[in-house]
Amino acid sequence: MSIDEKKLFDRIRSINPKTILLRGPEGYLNLIQRIASKIEGQFNIPTIISADECYGSCDTIENDALILGAEIVLHVGHSIRTDNFGKRTIMIDVTDDISFSRIIKKSIPIIKKYKRLGLCTISQYLNALQPSKKLFEEYGFDVIIGQGQGYLRDGQIFGCRFNTVFSIKGRIDAIIFLGQSRFHALGASLSTSLPTFMLDPYSNTFENMQNETEKWYKRAILQIYKAIDAKKFGVLIGLKEGQMNINTALRIRERLINNGKNAQLFSIREISSNRLDMLSQFDAFIQTACPRISIDQRSFKKPVLSTLQTEALFGIWDGLDPKSVLEKETWF
Ligand code: SF4
Repeated sequence: MSIDEKKLFDRIRSINPKTILLRGPEGYLNLIQRIASKIEGQFNIPTIISADECYGSCDTIENDALILGAEIVLHVGHSIRTDNFGKRTIMIDVTDDISFSRIIKKSIPIIKKYKRLGLCTISQYLNALQPSKKLFEEYGFDVIIGQGQGYLRDGQIFGCRFNTVFSIKGRIDAIIFLGQSRFHALGASLSTSLPTFMLDPYSNTFENMQNETEKWYKRAILQIYKAIDAKKFGVLIGLKEGQMNINTALRIRERLINNGKNAQLFSIREISSNRLDMLSQFDAFIQTACPRISIDQRSFKKPVLSTLQTEALFGIWDGLDPKSVLEKETWF
């Protein structure tokens, strides 16, 4: 794993901050500590590392920086299309140079029945896209890397944004996800309904996501049906900066009330079964924060719908079929 230290140090020099806050996913905490020590050694300024969980590029902490008096936040490991985010966040790319050649070669006998492939990946393997494309082409495949859109770079997907694969789904037969994240590979599969393979260069294994996709899809639909007869809904407004969606929550509340339901808004930072168990008088919840909280978590005792599932629920109340709920370019 590496970062562009020169670029980072040049930025720090140009801003000349008195304090720096650092932030990143759990798996990068050691790397973040190394970066913090280097900054302290080089610039003789204090650094603060956020020990809170960090789920994605959306999980920024500009308000924390304001409270702590940090002029900049280095958000490590969640690349987006620009280096800057908000007023004080600098996105720091982390690159993993592992080669995909071995696993690509191993996957060919299974993948060869698909002529046209779409490649996608996550931040740290973006550098592997072009060499992998070339290699697949050498094996005779037609390969497309979807163009970047919004926050996404070319071929990049987030856990809730799949524009780069969705936009090419009519031109490919299968998706190849490069990396070690079933979370993302399943997202690509669910959002396109195309055969999707995850190629993991570390374990040198590849996985056809089809069975898991079907299970996850059924579970997402089941949650919607479980909420159909609910009378009391808790509508959750996530307080994480990039996930706060009060207008959607207000719109959903109104729609619920118009359908004769009881709806109470709640603000909440971490949506967990422990917190929701405390609100035992509610029959179901709708959360307007990260859609993956609803789609991935199995520990909730009551239905906790994402906004996408909620739209499907409203559709059912209006007599529509909830098919293709997750087949969307973005879930957020
Ligand atoms: S909303 Fe959820 S899935 Fe989307 S980027 Fe944020 S943490 Fe990831």
